[in-house]
Amino acid sequence: MTFEPRQLMRHVEKLCDLSPRLTGTPSEAAAADYTAAALERVGAEVTRQVFPITRWECRDVAVEVRRGHQWHSLRALPIGHSPSTRGVVEGDMVVVEHLTADNPALRACADKIAVVLGMWGEDAANLDSLARAKPAAAVFLDDRLPSYEPVQDSLPMGWVDKLRVPAVTIPYFEGWDLVRQPGRLRVRVDCLVEKGESQNVIARLVGSHPGAGGILLSAHHDSVAIGRAADDDATGVACVLELARALASVPRRRDVWAVTFGCEEHLSVGAEAFVREEAHQAHRLATVINFDSCGSLFGRTRALVTGEPALQRWVHRQIARLGEQVVVEADVSPYSDHFFFTAAGVPAVWFYRTNFVGGRWYHHQALDCEEVVGPEALASVARTGFALARELVRSERLPYPRRIPDAQLERIRHLERTMATWPPR
Ligand SMILES: [Zn+2]
Repeated sequence: MTFEPRQLMRHVEKLCDLSPRLTGTPSEAAAADYTAAALERVGAEVTRQVFPITRWECRDVAVEVRRGHQWHSLRALPIGHSPSTRGVVEGDMVVVEHLTADNPALRACADKIAVVLGMWGEDAANLDSLARAKPAAAVFLDDRLPSYEPVQDSLPMGWVDKLRVPAVTIPYFEGWDLVRQPGRLRVRVDCLVEKGESQNVIARLVGSHPGAGGILLSAHHDSVAIGRAADDDATGVACVLELARALASVPRRRDVWAVTFGCEEHLSVGAEAFVREEAHQAHRLATVINFDSCGSLFGRTRALVTGEPALQRWVHRQIARLGEQVVVEADVSPYSDHFFFTAAGVPAVWFYRTNFVGGRWYHHQALDCEEVVGPEALASVARTGFALARELVRSERLPYPRRIPDAQLERIRHLERTMATWPPR
């Protein structure tokens, strides 16, 4: 099966034109409408799942530094769901080199502006430490992405109440200028935070043996609050739409679910809602194949396998047969939609592409536009994902045990406890 790079890019461009597709906004809903229409054209039965979220929107943000008698503005973005400053707050800056309770710098932050190197990691207790320090505002430098652009960072939905300090990010390298030449800072953030809703688009192609576990293909149609979000994740959505089209015309023993999720950017809230919905019987699925940020022009395709070593070996064999360049790895990751399926005991393969050790240099910045996506690279991911899906949908018995090894499950449970919106099962 060939996948036309131009056809994949058409989906990417259409979704980019709706951007940013921030969760709970009309743009996210328009992106959902787009995927629903495309999946209906494939001939699938399409439904929507609406679920509650806390939505946010930036009305105003500004950071200024005083140099002599002049105030200079820095480019800034609010952290998603940031409390507002109610006007401007002004104070001396305190450099906080790491955000943990034992850092003495936090004790000097009251009513000042904390300039924090790095984020809060996977531990919400670090946000509590920031709140206890009572700074007037916090200016974060995302040290995962040294850039001249500000990064749009957001929190897991379950943590949004823990961000009790008005918080923004500025470009990493502007942070260097601040430390070289410290000055008084002014911060203004005005965010709307309110109850809202998001939705999943769920298409099902019924197989000849609906009792056999289905194969679920996934990507997310929402995005962060800035830019065109081409790679994250219009590329994955393009793969799901085109794979659904290709699979509609092949003999299928198993059901194929093609799903585009909403609200992934706050820790896969849509995927979690899907897995928690009784009627979906997600725990009975055979395998999930997830596509998220898989189009980097120059980079390395990775297949992250959560499941038995036999699944990893099987994926490896399929890819070797295709002659595609893919790194196959075994691990657990909470950072895309497959995570809550693995928490329900369903093995998963996540296709993504990286272009440096830290991930993708344009990640969650205005830089993530069509120019960073390679049509051929994206077509290669689509071919690879399709080859796996086609083998599985026609199989009577899965070529690997359908389970998550205990060591991986233990790590999944820990992440679920600390990061998920709902309690672990
Ligand atoms: Zn993503």
